[in-house]
Amino acid sequence: MTTDHSPDADPADPADPVRPTPPIELTGTGSHLTTTVVEVSPAALAALHAACPSSTAIGKRAEASRDWWPLAMHWALVGQAPQVAAIVCSPTTTDEVVAVLRVCHEHRVPVTPAAGRSSVTGASVPVFGGVLLDLSNLHGVVHLDEVSGVVEVVAGTFGPELEREIGAHGHSVGHFPQSFDLATVGGWVACRGAGQYSTRYGKIEDMVVGLEVVLADGTVVRTGGAPAAAAGPDLTQLFVGSEGTLGVVTRVWLRTHAVSGPPTMASYAFDTFEAGIDACRRIIQRGATPAVLRLYDAPESARGQGGDGTQCMLLVLDEGDHEIVDATMRVVAAECAAAVSLGVERVERWTHHRNDTSALQALTRKGFVVDTLEIAAPWAVLGEIFDAVRTAMLAVPHARAATCHLSHSYPDGACLYFTFAATPPADEVESTYVALWDAGTRAVLAHGGNLSHHHGVGLNRSRYMREALGPAFDVLVAMKHALDPTGILNPGKLGLPSPFGEVPWP
Ligand SMILES: Cc1cc2nc3c(=O)[nH]c(=O)nc-3n(C[C@H](O)[C@H](O)[C@H](O)COP(=O)(O)OP(=O)(O)OC[C@H]3O[C@@H](n4cnc5c(N)ncnc54)[C@H](O)[C@@H]3O)c2cc1C
Repeated sequence: MTTDHSPDADPADPADPVRPTPPIELTGTGSHLTTTVVEVSPAALAALHAACPSSTAIGKRAEASRDWWPLAMHWALVGQAPQVAAIVCSPTTTDEVVAVLRVCHEHRVPVTPAAGRSSVTGASVPVFGGVLLDLSNLHGVVHLDEVSGVVEVVAGTFGPELEREIGAHGHSVGHFPQSFDLATVGGWVACRGAGQYSTRYGKIEDMVVGLEVVLADGTVVRTGGAPAAAAGPDLTQLFVGSEGTLGVVTRVWLRTHAVSGPPTMASYAFDTFEAGIDACRRIIQRGATPAVLRLYDAPESARGQGGDGTQCMLLVLDEGDHEIVDATMRVVAAECAAAVSLGVERVERWTHHRNDTSALQALTRKGFVVDTLEIAAPWAVLGEIFDAVRTAMLAVPHARAATCHLSHSYPDGACLYFTFAATPPADEVESTYVALWDAGTRAVLAHGGNLSHHHGVGLNRSRYMREALGPAFDVLVAMKHALDPTGILNPGKLGLPSPFGEVPWP
């Protein structure tokens, strides 16, 4: 382990690999949240500099202290990060993560793990200051077990590096979130993410075989490792979705499969969104799992999928063993017999533009409030939620649009993904944003949906956690106390109580 690190070594130096940053430039170094910032003593700062490459340069601290949370994008336009960390620590090994956490544990310093900082919920914002633990230099593919189809990868590895390395051996993990270029394996695990091909390959929790995790006091644990187990509850899943509040994930074992040949595609136009939902349900419940099964409501179909304003487009794509793909596409065609078959062009276009979010950023720059709300719910209530969320959001003053697509399907239900926009006056941006989230979330919960399908909770959805989980939320609180008794790990997130105080909202 290296212990001689120059103070203010630059983790964002041009000599280092280029890391993506949120698209709205931060024009200053102020902070927006009025949280109590924890003072980090000179002794603790010196110990952190000795633990790993670290920086206290203000520009770096401010930039590293923000993510893609849309509300924070508005604050960036006026030169403010949500809150600014006292120091950015950039470990390159598990030992260095251990060293940082031991210092933080001893000195009671809050530590916020962050990697790609592509969270859209403020999850990687250091709301009480302290250490921003930048895990993006902790990267690399360690080993690919080609026989079993399992890859061991360091947590800060970005999607393209992982797929490039194992793709050279004919393997793929098949996890392709829209933020594939922006996010890391550890971030996928920490947020319980979903890729665009999840209907075939599953969410990240279905792909994880095991984890190496550093606990708040610096203890290193290894979970899982076998295809299945019955030795008590699944400790791997305890950390999946914990958003940096229960431990720091340093190494991940993921399932792989053979790289597929060219995909097979189809698209259909339905008269109503409800008819499309029902076709998706029948396809999945017959056991067909096309990698992509995306249904757009009429406005989204017109906006991006060549619809005429009344049609609801369904895009279907599958890949892999051709006998399974052929059978899958036959089931799809049979269940879409009442819709208009439109061929492959729309799906081809989607494959080329599916990760482009520049239109949303352009709206933010113009002062629009724009965000997305993704939830999961049983098939039986999806239609009600589709209606209730749009009605509730459009009733919020200054709301301009609330649209929806269905993006991930399961035998018992699916994910609905709403996009909403509003044009409030400048002094009502925050109140409008909060009102839209309250309206949409309460409509979902009232009709039997859940709080989040894959973006997670972070800061933005913290205030709904007790309401959404009920008494089960206390189980999570108890786990937090047991694993992190001093409360240093990502305080202020997941709605968990924090010894450093409350986060005034917003
Ligand atoms: C344009 C865009 C599109 C997106 N599309 C998708 C999508 O299709 N599917 C999807 O699931 N998500 C999507 N997201 C959300 C985001 O990309 C995911 O949540 C992603 O998994 C976050 O990874 P990250 O490396 O950027 O983590 P960060 O944003 O840096 O951190 C997110 C949270 O994870 C914690 N964390 C990060 N790394 C670790 C670690 N090693 N150990 C412990 N905790 C850690 C942080 O503390 C924080 O709480 C999108 C985001 C953007 C900006």
